[in-house]
Amino acid sequence: MTTELEIGLYIFMLAGFLGYHIITRVPPLLHTPLMSATNAIAGISLVGSLVVAGADYGALSTMLGFIAVTCSTTNVVGGFLITDRMLSMFKRSEEQTAQRRKVPFGRVLVTLIVLGAGVMALLYWSGQRGGVAEWIVHPRLHAETLKYSYIVSAALFILGLKGLSSPKYARKGMQAAAFGMLMAVVGTLFHPEIVTYKWIILGFIIGSVVGGTMGLRIPMTAVPQRTALSHSLGALAACLVGISEYFRHEGVLSPVVMTPLGFEVVVGGLTFTGSLMAAAKLQELLPGHPITYKGQNLLNFSLLAVIVGSLIYLVIAPTTAVVFQVMVALSFVFGLLLVIPIGAADMPVVIALLNSYGGLADASMGFVLMNKIQIITGSLDGTSGFLLSLLMCRAMNRSVVNVLFGAFGKVAKEKSDQEAEAKGTVRSIFPEEVTALLDDVRSVIIVPGYGMAVAQAQHGVAELAKLLMQRGINVKYAIHPVAGRMPGHMNVLLAEANVPYDQLYAMEQINPYFPEADIALVVGANDVTNPAAKNDRNSPLYGMPILEVDRAKSIIVLKRSLRPGFAGVDNDLYYDPKCMMLFGDAKESLNKLFAALKS
Ligand code: NAP
Repeated sequence: MTTELEIGLYIFMLAGFLGYHIITRVPPLLHTPLMSATNAIAGISLVGSLVVAGADYGALSTMLGFIAVTCSTTNVVGGFLITDRMLSMFKRSEEQTAQRRKVPFGRVLVTLIVLGAGVMALLYWSGQRGGVAEWIVHPRLHAETLKYSYIVSAALFILGLKGLSSPKYARKGMQAAAFGMLMAVVGTLFHPEIVTYKWIILGFIIGSVVGGTMGLRIPMTAVPQRTALSHSLGALAACLVGISEYFRHEGVLSPVVMTPLGFEVVVGGLTFTGSLMAAAKLQELLPGHPITYKGQNLLNFSLLAVIVGSLIYLVIAPTTAVVFQVMVALSFVFGLLLVIPIGAADMPVVIALLNSYGGLADASMGFVLMNKIQIITGSLDGTSGFLLSLLMCRAMNRSVVNVLFGAFGKVAKEKSDQEAEAKGTVRSIFPEEVTALLDDVRSVIIVPGYGMAVAQAQHGVAELAKLLMQRGINVKYAIHPVAGRMPGHMNVLLAEANVPYDQLYAMEQINPYFPEADIALVVGANDVTNPAAKNDRNSPLYGMPILEVDRAKSIIVLKRSLRPGFAGVDNDLYYDPKCMMLFGDAKESLNKLFAALKS
């Protein structure tokens, strides 16, 4: 006879394969929205949290459930809002001109939340009086409601992710996924074990305010740290629900339950602290460089061995609460130690990996509670995060092991300072001279990079491009898959500046155009243009596919100095006789260029 566990495992595997096929079809253009979308969907830990917060499992469980509801609601509301904000920016040229009036998704979401809160208030009020709620929450009715709402939600989540395979359908897809989340949540409110809505309502209110503020207010340049923070909250929710389940049963759990529960708590715990550390590094609250010390990897592996050992021990002797507590504490510490040696610029890979861990923690929660929707979304999220991290590593020509344990950027930066002095001369240029050069060109390729994000120069870039186009110059944007610090980072920033996505060319599409380009205008990009990646076997960048800027007729680079980029490697491009450096902050340089061109 097929057991619940077997069914769960089948569902987990099939959802993983389905996720793989759907997510490989998401174009690099939409990789940043994909990250926040899966992050929002991972907020499905909310359904497990609701039951713990609302059921009569004891004071500890209720408190942990309340915190978990707050964290997951923040994730869901913030994740869907910011994804929609990003997707609403992606427009084709013709859509830019024909602006249609649309109801903002934020308003729709807020209305839905208010409606949901109203339903709950009614349930709570009538439950107290033995009124409508008793009729609505008839045991047979709520079992059916739960079952069917989860099935519909799962279908809507998959449709939502499928929509991300094209910017045209992405927004509608994510709206369907948000509706799916609402269905799963409303269905869970009818869960037979929920006896009070007090803590649930409070958690919803706090989570919606925090998530809503994060989703609507955070600037696009801070998307990486928001995503990391959101992962940490989702993982904390999974971890707390696991802790609550353990203490509720006083550790009397079969190996079939103890194994996923231990996994949920460990992975949730390390993802929580690891993601917090990643967010702090990206926000520059902590030093961004890799922090390394002697015996670091040995310490980390020993710690991991103790955690795994504790988990195995608990599967055999689950009632040993001390071992459980030690295991939880060590998981939190392990998350911190895992991320400390990784540089801030590698954080996107780490965030994608942590996203995947968060998905696994969610799926484990699904196994503990035997909740199929959590198994499905956890598996989708796990696959998406893992695939994205692999894609990023491939685009950088590095392995995941190198990212996690290589302390990349530390040694290379020290070496590069000496190398830079030994190089030849570079030509610098002033904005007025650039305008003279632009007078008789026919095609310009703009190459944005991380410096554009730092300077927040995307609007300046778009304004300049518009002006050039008005003068009959053909302008294209060249987008490297790992330009910036997030996959698809440049696409989102340029979309924010109203650049239609049909003007953005992926690396493979644009490279053949460089020899025809009169000018390649490099705005704050460095590593992704470095010819050493093709020519210098000793370079850390060797083998990484690059934008072949060096093949353009002339090159103008906007950056502040000759300092290297993320890889810490000097760029030979700047010593090319065709290359001219316009030194200064990219935003200021673009303003000067724009003013000079206008006059
Ligand atoms: P980059 O190589 O890091 O170079 C950025 C350049 O921007 C710097 O050299 C800096 O030079 C310049 N800059 C900084 N602030 C500026 C400002 N205010 N105005 C003008 N210029 C400014 O960037 P990239 O070419 O975009 O390459 C991305 C790198 O990140 C790659 O090595 C990639 O492998 C790595 N990475 C990317 C991802 C991802 O998902 N996108 C993930 C992990 C790692 P100055 O200091 O001289 O101004």
